[in-house]
Amino acid sequence: MDALRRTLRLVMERSPLYRERFATLPAFVREGLRRGLWPRVAEDLTLIPFTDPAELAGEGWRRLLCVSQDKVARMVTLHTSGTTGGRSAVKRLAFSEDDLARTGEFFAVGMGVLARPGDTVLILLPGAERPGGVADVLIRALARLGGGPAQGEPVCRGVAGEPRADPAGFSAELRRWRPACLVAAPSQIRRLLDSAEVSRLAGYGEGSYTGLRAVLASSEPLPPDLRDAVTFAWRCEVFDHYGLTESAYGGGVECVAHDGLHWREADLWLEIVDPASGCPMPEGECGEIVITTLTREALPLVRYRTGDVAAVLPGPCRCGSPLRRLGRVVGRLVSDENGGRRVATPEKGNAHERDADAYS
Ligand SMILES: [Zn+2]
Repeated sequence: MDALRRTLRLVMERSPLYRERFATLPAFVREGLRRGLWPRVAEDLTLIPFTDPAELAGEGWRRLLCVSQDKVARMVTLHTSGTTGGRSAVKRLAFSEDDLARTGEFFAVGMGVLARPGDTVLILLPGAERPGGVADVLIRALARLGGGPAQGEPVCRGVAGEPRADPAGFSAELRRWRPACLVAAPSQIRRLLDSAEVSRLAGYGEGSYTGLRAVLASSEPLPPDLRDAVTFAWRCEVFDHYGLTESAYGGGVECVAHDGLHWREADLWLEIVDPASGCPMPEGECGEIVITTLTREALPLVRYRTGDVAAVLPGPCRCGSPLRRLGRVVGRLVSDENGGRRVATPEKGNAHERDADAYS
C-alpha cells in the first residue's frame, strides 16, 4: 500500500497527463495523495480513472514520462493490430536502467523455479542484441542464478536462439547449446512441435545430451492443448508466464504446483475488473487485468487496462508462497463492430500473438 501511495504521488507531481487527471479528483483525495496518506484501503483506488492503452499511442508517452529524457535507458515501440478490422496503432514506452534492473530481479526469481545452476537456457524471444530487450534482460538475469564460483556452483547461461523458430535452425541450436531449458512464445513452440527431429532432440537428446527438462512459455497465452503436446512430445515440464511490455515484460510466473501464476506483487498492483462496468471482480471470477506499476521510475502506469482476461485464484498455493496467483489468461478483449468489447479466445494454430513486436 505504501508503494501504491508513492506511485500515485509521483505521477501526480511529475506526469502532465496524471496531473491533469488527478486535478478532477475530490479535494480530500488530492490532499491525501499529496500527504502520502491515500489510498487508505485497496478499494479507494477505484476512484481513480483507468489508463487506456490508446494513451500510449503516438507521442502520448511524453505526457506520462516522470523522469528527464536523459534517464530513459530504453524506448520500446509496439505495433499492435486489432483482432477485428485490422486497425493498428503504435504505442511507445520508456524504461530507466532501474526499471529494467527490477525486471531482471523478477526474471531471476522466476527462472529459479525451473533452471538449476550450470544449466544452459535457450531463449527464442527477441531482443538479445539490444540492451534492455527482453532476451537481453533475461540473459543477464540468468547469469546471476546459481551460487557462482564463490559458492562452488556454476552459474546459469542464457543463449539467444533464432526468434524465427524454424525446425532446422532450432535443431541445430539444440545440438550446439544442449539447453536444459527453453524460453519461447507459444506460437514459436507450435511451429516446432510437428518436427520429428526437434521432438527426438528435445525429448531424448543425442549423445550425452539428455534433452530439454523445462520450457517457459511467455509473451502469449498458453493454450492447454499446447502445454499437453509439449509435455508429451518433448518429455519436459512446462511453466507459464504472463507479462507484457507495459509491465516491463514480467508479470506472473507459474511455480512447481502448476496452479496459477504467482504475481509480481513487489512491482505491480493487480486488479481484475468487469470490462463493461469497471467494477472489481470477486476472486475466482474472470475479468480484465488492470495493472498499476509500483516501482516504475520512467513511465509509471496507473490502473492500466491490459485487455487480457483472467481471474485471481482464491486461497493459498500448495507451494506455500504467499504471493497471489493469476489464473490462466483465457482471452483478450477486442473491439466489436458495434463499438463494444468482446472476449477473443486463443485459437488453435494461432495463439493470438499479442503485440507482434511487443518483445522487441
Ligand atoms: Zn505456488
